[in-house]
Amino acid sequence: MGKQQDVETVREISVDPQPSGLTAVYLVETRSDKEPREIAKLFDELGSHMQVRQLSRGRLVSYIVQAYESDASLLDEIENLLKANYAFVVSQSSYDETIHRIVRELCSDTGSKLLQMPRCNICRKAVPFPTTVVTLSDQGGSVLLSRSYCGSCTAEAAAPSNKDFVRSLLNADRRDFGVLARAELVRRRSRKQNIRFRIKSSELAQVS
Ligand SMILES: [Zn+2]
Repeated sequence: MGKQQDVETVREISVDPQPSGLTAVYLVETRSDKEPREIAKLFDELGSHMQVRQLSRGRLVSYIVQAYESDASLLDEIENLLKANYAFVVSQSSYDETIHRIVRELCSDTGSKLLQMPRCNICRKAVPFPTTVVTLSDQGGSVLLSRSYCGSCTAEAAAPSNKDFVRSLLNADRRDFGVLARAELVRRRSRKQNIRFRIKSSELAQVS
């Protein structure tokens, strides 16, 4: 993945706007091997109601979640449940560089492992839940590359048409997509929420 040949075999581009919502970060310092397992089970179960991503593991267990606005009370319940059961719990209702730094510092203090976080492919900011994901696939529909973009870069790329929107994302992407970012796109019908384009065949000679 990520080699130049992949870009050359791209025949389809799909833009997936991701659900947005309320964010919460939970940090728990655990005191036994059992506690991280209990917490993992809790967040596993929450995964059917909201998006869940683990930020760290080890003595410091931390998770970030993104829930629908209607599930706001559930976020408070998680906080209360954690505080009732564990000695050291920190929660915050947003994810930013500050909380990321706190998690990183607490991880190094406690010998815990900070887990990899996807980064915006434009500004490189850590994005636990990207606002937009662009998927590039080959002729057979196999995914070659997936690019993630944060909320502000998505807003920055806003354009009057979906075609211009995807072009401006690919042009702003730190990776050079060459001809692909200028290729003529043909809208494809899609059953899902995403917006799909086929690269017009006349462009193929230049791409391949
Ligand atoms: Zn960004």
